[in-house]
Amino acid sequence: MSLPPLFLSRMASLLSAGEYEKFLAVYQSPLFEAVRLNPFKSHSMFSTFDQTVPWCQDGRYLSATSNLSGNHPLHHAGAFYFQEPSAMAVVEMMDIQPDDVVLDIAAAPGGKATQIASKLSQQGLLIANDVDNQRAQALMFNVERLGLTQVVVTQHDPQHLKQIIPEMFDQILIDAPCSGEGMFRQDLHARRAWSIEHVQACQYRQQLLIENAVPLLKVGGKITYSTCTFSPEENEHLIASFLSRHPEFKLIQHPLFRLFDEQSTHGIGVKLFPHLVKGEGHYIAILQHQGTSTKQPNYQHRMRNPLPGLWKTFAQHTLKYPEIFTPNFILGERLFLIPLRYRYHAALHTLRAGIYLGDMDKQVFYPAHHFAHTLSPKDVKQHLDFSFNDPQLFRYLKGEELATTLEDAWVLVTVDGLSLGWGKASKNRLKNHYPKGLRLSNTRV
Ligand code: SAM
Repeated sequence: MSLPPLFLSRMASLLSAGEYEKFLAVYQSPLFEAVRLNPFKSHSMFSTFDQTVPWCQDGRYLSATSNLSGNHPLHHAGAFYFQEPSAMAVVEMMDIQPDDVVLDIAAAPGGKATQIASKLSQQGLLIANDVDNQRAQALMFNVERLGLTQVVVTQHDPQHLKQIIPEMFDQILIDAPCSGEGMFRQDLHARRAWSIEHVQACQYRQQLLIENAVPLLKVGGKITYSTCTFSPEENEHLIASFLSRHPEFKLIQHPLFRLFDEQSTHGIGVKLFPHLVKGEGHYIAILQHQGTSTKQPNYQHRMRNPLPGLWKTFAQHTLKYPEIFTPNFILGERLFLIPLRYRYHAALHTLRAGIYLGDMDKQVFYPAHHFAHTLSPKDVKQHLDFSFNDPQLFRYLKGEELATTLEDAWVLVTVDGLSLGWGKASKNRLKNHYPKGLRLSNTRV
């Protein structure tokens, strides 16, 4: 593998001689692939995956026989997320409390955001933001697939957020865009794009990001800063210079730091080196605002209008406990169940707020795909379950119509009890409502 010579000489000066040799040897060995299991959608198949990522309880290393891909039905069901193992350490170190209000300022495609959301209760809220529209859409689809309910997905340049939601957050994650040195083993583009000028340009952008985060944090809140690069300019130098400008913050440690390297950073955060851990390169620093924090009260969401009749009819025929899913927000024809901690801001460019329940279209209520992912068989009157190797299941995922004896109404389709999407039974046929963009093509299976 060819690596930029200047990158190599910089690494040689960052590491001791013996260590540098070990670091170089890593580039001759394969990557560690891993998934993070979704605690809201657990499946017995994963009990055979016996290699847990040491710093993440839900992380599992994959082996040659794991046989997982994005086409696997359990991936469609949101039972797991492909995530680089070192990247899993960041959120574990945030010690998310179930009722935290969290901002992930550069969240797409959502590895860390979905990990944060999996630690929140109904009293918690995550605003997952990305500046890039296409990437923010991908983030939204991952939030949907994992059936997450406490997430608001926004698309903003963070410099505009302080006017809209100042001092709102208990915790902010800045997983900064960086020169990607830690990903060189898997990312050819990052290797080709590397130059010292690129490192400096990244540092400039990161400095803006961290400064823009400060007014969004509550007194006493925490900022976790991470990158997937080794360069001191983008990591320990950046944090040291931030601290010199912001004496109201102090660095804090985490018990997991002992698994990683604190020497090369001079104690300003930790680095994960691929020759020392089973994962790629990463940097993590945790900054605590010194002040006494307080929690915000929940908002009382109530729709101004009476519940639409179309929803009532749908809920009566489909849901066992409609009151749990009563919509609390309506936007045009779309119904939502937004998190208790979220106050609607018209100025916030929002792609998704809480659970998207569905659309009222003329005389029919169409339940949304996101809604299906937040349900389980116990929530609905009718469901159709397949085991994950049933050929009928693949027909559903391809978008085909199936035969059924269920009553004419909406049906939750599940794989081993995990929700996948909607179908509508009508005259012994199940009309397929699996979203067109997600369907398996005939050639893929
Ligand atoms: N946290 C993500 C995850 O775990 O999947 C990965 C984030 S990636 C390292 C950095 C992200 O920063 C990219 O999605 C990019 O679009 C976004 N980005 C770049 N410049 C930004 C900016 N000024 N503000 C917010 N996001 C930005």
